[in-house]
Amino acid sequence: MSLDVRRRSASERREALKEVLAEARACTRCAELAATRKTVVFGAGNADAELMFVGEAPGASEDEQGLPFVGRAGGLLNTLLAEIGLERSQVFIANTLMCRPPGNRDPQPIEIDNCHEYLLRKVELIQPAVICTLGNFSTKLLRGDPTGITRLHGSPEVLVLGARAVRLYPIYHPAAALYTPRMLETLREDFHRLPELLALGAPEQPSFAEVPEPAPEPAAQPQAHAAGGERGLEAGQLGLF
Ligand code: SF4
Repeated sequence: MSLDVRRRSASERREALKEVLAEARACTRCAELAATRKTVVFGAGNADAELMFVGEAPGASEDEQGLPFVGRAGGLLNTLLAEIGLERSQVFIANTLMCRPPGNRDPQPIEIDNCHEYLLRKVELIQPAVICTLGNFSTKLLRGDPTGITRLHGSPEVLVLGARAVRLYPIYHPAAALYTPRMLETLREDFHRLPELLALGAPEQPSFAEVPEPAPEPAAQPQAHAAGGERGLEAGQLGLF
């Protein structure tokens, strides 16, 4: 990732995001996940979104459809978004892992590590002001700290991710709140604070001198646009607009 990413236009960043998508669709860094997935669930939404959500990993429905949060948890996320006057087309939704762990097992640390660089590249290209982490996995990953969501939910903080300073806002995962009324109530309260956080805008960005050198980009993958055996997904179908 070039350090001049912040100077690129929205359309240049969107095109670069499509290149990351093409790389991701051919990714085999996690051998087991690459062998068992049906699709790479890259993320969906507005490529220039102010608000980005980061969940855990795709489930069966997401793996089938190639889109994040399409099951009941996705329905709840849509409802909460509507309650604060937003639609999915205005936000970007991603996960810490882009491939479904078989049997919905927990992501393994090595798999989270493998996929982390893709997530940072998305953050740098989309340039959100607020990143809302959904549940423990994404909160611990992006904060680089084992403190759990029960202690952190509803407490925003400014963090630098890659070359981007964002307001990180951990909340409960909608899937966890589906069957626990008290957790749902807390999730809703936290969610309803998002507009005031968004109104603050992006935090002050680090100067280029302060931005650490990025990790080297992965070697070019063969068949970047035609991952064998995977359902074809064009960038347009991912709502990158
Ligand atoms: S989870 Fe991420 S790093 Fe692992 S194979 Fe899938 S796309 Fe690649």
